[in-house]
Amino acid sequence: MEYEAVIGLETHVQLKTKSKMWCGCANAYGAEPNTNVCPVCLGLPGVLPVPNDEALRLTVLTGLLLNCEIPRFAKFDRKSYFYPDMPKNYQITQYDKPSTANGFVEFEFAGAGSTDGRSRVRITRAHLEEDVGKSFHFERTSGLDFNRAGVPLMEIVSEPDLTSPDMAYEYLNALKEILIYGGVSDCDMEKGMVRCDVNVSVRPVGAKELGAKIEIKNMNSFSGVRRALEYEIPRQIAVVKSGGKLVQSTRRWDDVTGITEQMRTKEDAHDYRYFPDPDLMPSAPDDAWLAEVKSRVVELPLARKQRFMRDYGLPASDAETFKNDVPLGDYFEGIAKNSKNPKAIANWVINNLRAKLAEASERRTGVAPVSIQDRGAENLETGATPVLPGTFADLKFPPAALLELVSLVEAKTISSAAAQQVFVEMFDTGKSPTVIVQEKGLAQVSDTGAIEKFCDEVIAANPGPANDFKSCKPAALNFLKGQVMKLSKGKANPAVAGEILERKLKS
Ligand code: ADP
Ligand code: MG
Ligand code: ZN
Repeated sequence: MEYEAVIGLETHVQLKTKSKMWCGCANAYGAEPNTNVCPVCLGLPGVLPVPNDEALRLTVLTGLLLNCEIPRFAKFDRKSYFYPDMPKNYQITQYDKPSTANGFVEFEFAGAGSTDGRSRVRITRAHLEEDVGKSFHFERTSGLDFNRAGVPLMEIVSEPDLTSPDMAYEYLNALKEILIYGGVSDCDMEKGMVRCDVNVSVRPVGAKELGAKIEIKNMNSFSGVRRALEYEIPRQIAVVKSGGKLVQSTRRWDDVTGITEQMRTKEDAHDYRYFPDPDLMPSAPDDAWLAEVKSRVVELPLARKQRFMRDYGLPASDAETFKNDVPLGDYFEGIAKNSKNPKAIANWVINNLRAKLAEASERRTGVAPVSIQDRGAENLETGATPVLPGTFADLKFPPAALLELVSLVEAKTISSAAAQQVFVEMFDTGKSPTVIVQEKGLAQVSDTGAIEKFCDEVIAANPGPANDFKSCKPAALNFLKGQVMKLSKGKANPAVAGEILERKLKS
């Protein structure tokens, strides 16, 4: 019998708010331990929580971005458990009335049930809760830092629609991109802003019923999630194939040894004794509040990529670049709207401008820019503060200059080799391409008389290749053409040079 995997993810995301969920303490990473704390987030008796409205707005915004319903009634509940890093001994969360539910995420993944290389995963709910403090274990003592306690935390629960480690990985990346686009979270994995519980079971292919759910807790990198699943799925299949029985349980992933190990089974699972928090009013969004949140909805990353392909005729790889680097894509679009040749604009922006901007910004700040895609835990080892790509601080020429450059090439006023020189010059000086062409004498020579002379010289100096061409080796023509270009310092019109060479060699 063949088995298939069933995966559902619970993704915790720290929200991008200035202050914490129930108090005015800063929601800031990296401060000295226990400096962003107060009686509320330290769980001292006699205090009252005040909900952070921006956190509620960001949760509802997430619901809108994930195609969810927004109920007009949501409430907060207490989830009781005892842990040293949770000072109140309960966590405030949303139990049966979450802020948003019943949506889906669409992302690029080709597999069973996908259309045009896109797959869908249903979203059960996204609810708002609070983060807990952090324990540190030293040689003989332990320490607690409550700076993180009470930071707004959103939990996004997926339906068990994922079927493979790769699909889970792509889903997480798509989710992260959406949240970054929406300004909901910075999703900085290195700062633990995204953490994930992985639920996975196996069942005979085609079976309707789900197998026993095994949960791998607290994963903090997407590649870790993928690796854990790559280990856990074959492990479960091996158990059932050898006649064993899987029981619902919680496991822990060990990133160093690359295995999962059992933590507890259902019998010793927590009883959270949920009940409505008597200190907090339910949240009942009204029309004006919802309208304000709706006005913050942005185009989704995948929609943007598809639009760039459709409206500007770009290949997927270019559109992907503009999806990942939003400022670069916006810059491209501002110019491409006015161009008959958007692909040429995209080539300049991606192949030339991007590298030049990155170089200039690195020279200025001493930090290499990192793209959204590279900001995952995958580059944990660098330890560098990620800098968003697409700083245009170092750009000296106006957008119209790129249009001009493309026109000069299209009109064959300059060769593409000369255009490269013009670009470097316009980036360094901000001068217009036309002025640079004049100053540097880069205009292409289409005057056949002048090119004839170059061709004669080249044929005379290269009798070998010339004879090769005559004896039916057409490739030799390219070599000779290259020599003409060299001799003319890149100014000869290569098409004209080719024609003349061919005529001369054939006669
Ligand atoms: P809880 O965490 O309260 O136990 P659920 O069991 O309803 O909540 O679901 C938690 C997550 O586990 C969801 O993402 C859900 O899709 C997933 N899930 C539920 N049952 C299974 C299963 N049998 N196999 C894999 N994933 C599952
Ligand atoms: Mg769970
Ligand atoms: Zn506080």
